[in-house]
Amino acid sequence: MEHKKETHQFKAEVQKVLKLIINSLYSHPEIFLRELISNASDAIDKIRFKSQTDPDILAGDGEFKIRIIPDRKNRTITIEDNGIGMTHEEVVENIGTIAQSGTKAFLEAVEAMKKDTIAPELIGQFGVGFYSSFIVADKVTLVTKAPGARTATKWESTGDGTYTIEETKKKGRGTSVTLHLKEPSEGEPDYTDEWTIRGVVKRHSDFVSYPIVMDVERQEPLAEAEILKDADGKPIGETTRKVKREETLNSMKAIWTRNKSEVTDEEYSEFYKHISHDWSEPLEHVHIRFEGTTEYNALLYIPSRLPLDFTMRERRHGIHLYCKRVFIMDDCRELLPEYFSFVQGVVDAPDLNLNISREILQQDGLVRNIRKNLVKRLFDLLEGMDTEKYAKFFAEFGPILKIGIPTDHENRDRIAKLLRYQTTASEGKLVSLADYVSRMQEGQDAIYYITGENAATLLNSPHLERLKEKGLEVVLMTDPIDEFIVQVLRVFDTKKFVSAEKGDLGITTVDEKKRHEFDGFFAFLKEELKDHVKDVKASTHLKDSLSCLSGETYDMSPYLERIMKATGQKTEPAKRILEINIDHPAVANIRFLFEKNGKDPLLADYAGLLYDLALIAEGGKVEDPARFSRTVGAVMAEAITAEELMGGDGIEV
Ligand code: ADP
Repeated sequence: MEHKKETHQFKAEVQKVLKLIINSLYSHPEIFLRELISNASDAIDKIRFKSQTDPDILAGDGEFKIRIIPDRKNRTITIEDNGIGMTHEEVVENIGTIAQSGTKAFLEAVEAMKKDTIAPELIGQFGVGFYSSFIVADKVTLVTKAPGARTATKWESTGDGTYTIEETKKKGRGTSVTLHLKEPSEGEPDYTDEWTIRGVVKRHSDFVSYPIVMDVERQEPLAEAEILKDADGKPIGETTRKVKREETLNSMKAIWTRNKSEVTDEEYSEFYKHISHDWSEPLEHVHIRFEGTTEYNALLYIPSRLPLDFTMRERRHGIHLYCKRVFIMDDCRELLPEYFSFVQGVVDAPDLNLNISREILQQDGLVRNIRKNLVKRLFDLLEGMDTEKYAKFFAEFGPILKIGIPTDHENRDRIAKLLRYQTTASEGKLVSLADYVSRMQEGQDAIYYITGENAATLLNSPHLERLKEKGLEVVLMTDPIDEFIVQVLRVFDTKKFVSAEKGDLGITTVDEKKRHEFDGFFAFLKEELKDHVKDVKASTHLKDSLSCLSGETYDMSPYLERIMKATGQKTEPAKRILEINIDHPAVANIRFLFEKNGKDPLLADYAGLLYDLALIAEGGKVEDPARFSRTVGAVMAEAITAEELMGGDGIEV
């Protein structure tokens, strides 16, 4: 198909991202080179991998290279590769739109900050890629050709809202990106300068596994025979000449095959940025050399942040699998369980078959063995982190790590030890379950917990009143998956989990005689509220509040019910038990009213109120807010009138 020159509008979010990148990263201009080299290296990885099964795809050009061509006179720098290239459709799809599905969320988060610029670390989560060209360039021209294609595609933009795309000619497959550089201001580096380029490549891209080459000019001494000499043998004229030669700028040393002691922290960090396309520093890394029946190297990183689009995005990075330094695939999910899917890095297993496919990987014994070891080492790493670092880790990745509890039976206990929660005694800090157990009271055999949306509401939950009174600590669980976690674990360190909102806690007893006095009243409440509750009982949880709702030990909690509803899952709402505080004076008064006249119309309102108050206390919604408001109003009026009658200073109306 022939493609004439077309002008396109950038998608609105691209323009916003572009502006943000330029504004936020102008003080780190050199990263554009790393990003473009990284894209080139990925493109070569792709064709090299394809060529394993389809050698013809290389069409004789198997000498992979990334070439940098500075042009001082025209003030351009070109980065060229003989990688996989792009078809016209791919250019439209990849350049000019932003594939990352989290873009919108990212932009909304930034807009919420009401700023035009953000800290570079925040951009790091996002991966700036190709667009970073516009930090240094006022025009970018990309020419690319897919293997075997007849024609090439040219994309060009000044980054001001539109780009053009047209068909063109190009020798050989691959991509070349030419940046028309802005004039550098005083003191700014000149990216057409050989030494500037060398410095940047060395700093950020030294371990790229393909040669990054550049033609350099040098004065070379002439050979003896070439030098003109006078009668005395003194040279006449030039003794040197300018020669151009290609030089490789990077060492290509695969960092993971080196000895730990030889690799500096900067190198580890730069390598992380290279493979993850992240701009921030990693939180932690582990460099492993396994020696035994099979040998392999692994270099794994824990990022410092969870990407905003983590759950939705097609993760192309993840674990890169190599075999004897030959790239096989990225995002090799078979090497780590899902609960470690945020880990980035490289695994190089010399005994793997180069032509291995994703399907075969799953059944491969060696892969299973590697996976087991990597998981073990990651646990060691997490267990060895200091409290502060681990808190950072857990805040970002805790919810993902928890997926391991229902899915990895073998490591369940190890993951359980890594869980952190706030408790009623932790004063806002996160503590481990082991901490909780170590503080348990003499004779306490349960870990009390409560689930809900946020710790602040949970802390004030009426369900905890009696537990607090007895000084019993309660774990506050606020992550939706926590419900499942306790159901799967059932115990931690032989101590069983007991919900603070379900069943009888067995920590207080109700006076039997007094309970019986309420039989008639409770029967009335049960009938009155039969559409909402399955039973009415004297509470063992409450001390100060009038009422609360509780479930039976294996009932779904109201929080879980709300989550399921919110995510569109059909649930049969479980009817709960209304617990009444029979020691509360208001309850005593209502009962008194009931005993006096069981047909008093006010009783229905009070019954509704007892139920609504229980709902509100746990963060639920009242079904009939108008009736609630009316009843509370009436009760208040009663109370105020009563006060007046008792001689208080009432309000004059
Ligand atoms: P990222 O690299 O984070 O995906 P970019 O904006 O840098 O984001 O690139 C978008 C896409 O464009 C890449 O995923 C890739 O498919 C394509 N691309 C970029 N540069 C090249 C290149 N040199 N060769 C082939 N494809 C490329």
